[in-house]
Amino acid sequence: MVFDSTETASREELREVQDGRLRETVRNAYENVEFYRETFDEAGLSPADIESVEDLSKLPFTTKEDFRDHYPTGMFAVDMDDVIRVHASSGTTGKPKIVGYTREDLDVWSKAVARCLVAAGVGSDDVVQNAYGYGLFTGGLGLHQGVEELGATVIPIGGGNTQRQVELLSDLGSDVIACTPSYALYLAEVADDMGIDIRDLPLRTVIFGAEPCTEPMRNEIEARLGVTGIDIYGLSEIVGPGVSVECEAQDGLHIWEDYFYPEVVDPNTGDPVEEGEEGELVLTTLAKDALPVLRYRTGDLTTLDYGTCECGRTCVRMDNITGRSDDLIIVRGVNFYPSEIESVVLEFDEIAPHYRIDLRREGTLDRVEITVELVEEFGGSLSDLEGRIQKRLSNVLSFTPDELNLVEYGDIARTEVGKVQRVYDHRGQ
Ligand SMILES: [Zn+2]
Repeated sequence: MVFDSTETASREELREVQDGRLRETVRNAYENVEFYRETFDEAGLSPADIESVEDLSKLPFTTKEDFRDHYPTGMFAVDMDDVIRVHASSGTTGKPKIVGYTREDLDVWSKAVARCLVAAGVGSDDVVQNAYGYGLFTGGLGLHQGVEELGATVIPIGGGNTQRQVELLSDLGSDVIACTPSYALYLAEVADDMGIDIRDLPLRTVIFGAEPCTEPMRNEIEARLGVTGIDIYGLSEIVGPGVSVECEAQDGLHIWEDYFYPEVVDPNTGDPVEEGEEGELVLTTLAKDALPVLRYRTGDLTTLDYGTCECGRTCVRMDNITGRSDDLIIVRGVNFYPSEIESVVLEFDEIAPHYRIDLRREGTLDRVEITVELVEEFGGSLSDLEGRIQKRLSNVLSFTPDELNLVEYGDIARTEVGKVQRVYDHRGQ
């Protein structure tokens, strides 16, 4: 099942669509966005030099700093009269990135999300509980309009209100819920406290996004909720959720390549990497008028696979994102990602799938403290468990964390709304 025939078009047909849309996008960006006109002029390029997606590498990258420098609407290619909605990204520092959409842009976005839903196995007779936050964040309304485009039923509950979420899952028999991966687990805990086992409810799919999710975390969600966990990906600068999604084969996320053109580059040199090699995802929008974006550095690390998928879709698949280049933690010359700690945490039955990482500086020395939660029914030896976790962590991280705290079940704060915070960097404060 596909939402539209583009998803299974031949690579040649797809390329023709991409090249045509790219030429339009480049012309729109050059003629209507001063930033791009200057970028082209500095590089000695004109829109005529970009005839095909193969020419894209001639162009410099666009970065999140470019959005910041042109806050609020300097990257827009149309007048505000033609913008019918704005959203903003949730930046942790500084001003948010403001993004805008024409009516046609919203139509493209809705279709992209509808394709995602169908790929995730959602049908027009399904009920989708949307637990992403509504508002400036693109998750809530983005998912919402895709459900309506598909003709399924949307429950616009938004983030938080967890007991009510559980009641509605039960009373309306929601088939699908969309939320962050950490919230899916929290939902199961709250349901337990209410005496409800989510596995007994009709819920069959969790569409999760907005946070990185490791494979062990997905397995945990699937087991705790009795569901299939489907990863959806997107970012406000490009459109919001709906850039790519896993199909039911759960073997990589299909990127809707007629809307968003992907490249993977070496994060240090910016050079393209070989297919299948890991690097930073760079995206170019091919069907957006209000905010055309050329070669945007997402900061997300992934690989691309152009091989045929068993679902029949021909669109390239990207690996699910477990690390952003921004998330890389550097301590005493050693690099690691929070996701590496997450996979260790999930290996131990004695600890719950919640953790936090605290980075401190004592004198000139950095310290890493990791806090994990014991499961409710834990009854074994603490020191034995601590030793085993530390050993495993030092194998995976190539250094031993300075402190490992084992705390009672429920002691690590849960996040009901928005993205979960796992890393607390107290250095330099
Ligand atoms: Zn597939």
